[in-house]
Amino acid sequence: MSGMFTRICLLLSVLAMLCGPIAASTAVAQEGPRAAPTATIEVQSLPVAEEPVPAFDPVKATNAYLAQISGPQRARSDAYYEGGYVLLLVGTAYALIVAGLLLWLRISARMRDFAQAITRIRFWQAAIYAALFFVVIVVATLPLTLYQSFYREHEFGLSNQTIGQWFTDFAVLCAIGFVATTILVTVIYAVVRAAPNRWPIWASAITIAFAAFVGLISPVYVAPLFNTYTPLPDSPVKQSILAMAKANGVPVDNVYTFDASRQSDRISANVSGLFGTTRISLTDNLMKRATPAEVEAVLGHEIGHYVLGHTYTGLLWIALVIVVGFWFLNFSFRFLTAIFGGNWDVRQIDDPAGLPVLYAVGMVYLLLATPALNTISRNIEAQADIFGLNAARQPDGFATIALKLSEYRKLEPSPLEEFVFYDHPSGRSRIAMAMQWKAQHLRDPDIRKGPVSPQ
Ligand SMILES: [Zn+2]
Repeated sequence: MSGMFTRICLLLSVLAMLCGPIAASTAVAQEGPRAAPTATIEVQSLPVAEEPVPAFDPVKATNAYLAQISGPQRARSDAYYEGGYVLLLVGTAYALIVAGLLLWLRISARMRDFAQAITRIRFWQAAIYAALFFVVIVVATLPLTLYQSFYREHEFGLSNQTIGQWFTDFAVLCAIGFVATTILVTVIYAVVRAAPNRWPIWASAITIAFAAFVGLISPVYVAPLFNTYTPLPDSPVKQSILAMAKANGVPVDNVYTFDASRQSDRISANVSGLFGTTRISLTDNLMKRATPAEVEAVLGHEIGHYVLGHTYTGLLWIALVIVVGFWFLNFSFRFLTAIFGGNWDVRQIDDPAGLPVLYAVGMVYLLLATPALNTISRNIEAQADIFGLNAARQPDGFATIALKLSEYRKLEPSPLEEFVFYDHPSGRSRIAMAMQWKAQHLRDPDIRKGPVSPQ
């Protein structure tokens, strides 16, 4: 009954609300004639004639930027980068020669016999062999490593290290590599013995998990072994970086700087880590050598990697490369040992003496996979470039920093060269993209009033 009552009350109040205006207007009508009320009607002010969009040709601007690096400077960065193509082939050929010598001179077979003489347990035989193999490979490839990462870097003025400092870093790297490789190889051989036919699947799973683990711990435990990481010191640039980071949902305390000048003058920044350890780090060189607009352009790119989850995308792609790689190793090992196994004294896949075969095949696989790996990386980088332009809105800062990065990257490769060898878009691609972005944003006041590009 009370329910009915409330409903009636509700209905009445709704009716009262609806009738209210009618009642009021009847009241007005009863008061007699009166001047119509004058109301001010708000109209939108007429649009002010838009400021003319300045004439801007993105192609001309791109070419004008590219022309800023010429002569010996251009020749030097071209020579440095093109030398890298040769080194890729030389590195693979060198590895094949080392593996060939280990196999045909039966050094590998003797290393296995040595491990068998020490212990009868196959798990430990594999561990001893793996440890020996790592040392042999590091020593055998030392001349090439020394040339590639010390002498050549000095030749092109890209290194700040003395030979002593270089060896210290190299020793630390080898110590980590020694432990990591020995454990991984030993575990994989255990899997090979347990599942001789299905081992590539298990080995892939273990290697992917291992890669994820390394990604997780490296920013916290590995990177600090080579450089000192500190939070970026306070400055107006830092404020704009933090604002950009916050606006894009990046945890604000995650911008670090590190003393990359210990090793070289290269300007760069990176995103590293997985799960809880992801962080953005800028080199001290970037902070010293770049303008605030350039720093913002770089940070926009790095924030892009973070927001777009590129460390995870990267891991997924690497997983695919690993799975195909182990399948290729298994197939090639069986094919090669069927022909040469007698000469090498290596026949079974579970024999650690066959590791040089896997090493050689692995190096060939990585060489063949170079265009695929670079294309995966280049596409991810191009996404971060676009994100960075949208976030930082510094197309000219982006263009000039692309020029500064060309100290060690060829600025204008052919399309085929870029496809095969470039893990980042080339300087030309990046500047062209930034100028195209600018051309499409000239109606925005900040871009129209921003820096003038060369034409
Ligand atoms: Zn990047």
